[in-house]
Amino acid sequence: MKAVVAAAGALCLLILGIFGVGNTVLTSVPFADDEQRAMYDDVVREYRLTIPGSVLLAVDTVRFHQDFAWVGLETVRQTAELFSACGAFDPLIVEGRGKGRRVAFRVPRSGEVEFGAYPEGVTAELTDAEGRSYANHSTLAAGDYWIEVTAPSESTRYESRVYLDLVPCGQQEISDVLDRLGLVGDDRAMVYHLIAMYLPKEENYGHIMPGPFVWPVADTWPITSPFGERLDPVTGEWRVHTGVDIGVPEGKAVHVATDGVVVLAGWDGNYGNAVRVAHGDGVTTVYGHLKTVLVTVGQHVGKGDSVGLVGSTGKSTGPHLHFEWRVNGEPIDPLTVYHWTPEETP
Ligand SMILES: [Zn+2]
Repeated sequence: MKAVVAAAGALCLLILGIFGVGNTVLTSVPFADDEQRAMYDDVVREYRLTIPGSVLLAVDTVRFHQDFAWVGLETVRQTAELFSACGAFDPLIVEGRGKGRRVAFRVPRSGEVEFGAYPEGVTAELTDAEGRSYANHSTLAAGDYWIEVTAPSESTRYESRVYLDLVPCGQQEISDVLDRLGLVGDDRAMVYHLIAMYLPKEENYGHIMPGPFVWPVADTWPITSPFGERLDPVTGEWRVHTGVDIGVPEGKAVHVATDGVVVLAGWDGNYGNAVRVAHGDGVTTVYGHLKTVLVTVGQHVGKGDSVGLVGSTGKSTGPHLHFEWRVNGEPIDPLTVYHWTPEETP
């Protein structure tokens, strides 16, 4: 393996250029796919929320145990409604046929108006009770308004929608939404973890996609415990979790992230039966709690090779894979290695 250091941008671009996409073994972190992510962004726009779609996504990731098979447009809208203190404003539809018409509407509180396009030759004027005229995207005070449509002939058909941006009247805080959903303890910590991971880079949130490394388990399995501080499920104490736990049933094959040499294969204390692979440049990956180890120390392994089977050996409360990524001995969040910005996407 060439230069695999951290999850650094330019380097990832370089590696991507070499490896590209399309391995037979699953290479994506099971999360939400592109279509699902786009749905969250669209709903945020639809509800005119001031948060990025990644926040809704983080909440649903935890709510549905990362099982996006359960998530559809209606579910995403329900999550958006939890954040939208005012609810979405139903657009006022101005439609008709003929030389035009005058439609009255009431603005319940101050907001920005947006009216859609009219057909060729049709014009619309927005006025208030005093006859003052307002341009598209004006801020309207609460009160009564009229849209006056003028069409060139009796046979002209027209339809347009008037939207009011009313959300600034109050968007719910994330903590309020989590309260309402009853997400506490580890679930709550997980939501904040996901938000912290993606929010500073909201333009690239969720761009966990096929990359230079193979995700260690095929098919979609939830990340049941993230990297970082957490409440230890065995001792009940706060400690640093040096990897991610992936909720995979016993016996599933564990694939090595990339080429390397096996430096440990067998019992490793709390890790139970484990495999450690050195990839060069100080990078090692660790696969813990295995039921069966399929490699031996000193063996060269290629990206995607099976190194063991998922189990629950060592300090473990049930079958799962503990997956670790270390750089010069220091653990880093494996998800960051499988995460890069859209500019770097091939
Ligand atoms: Zn773990």
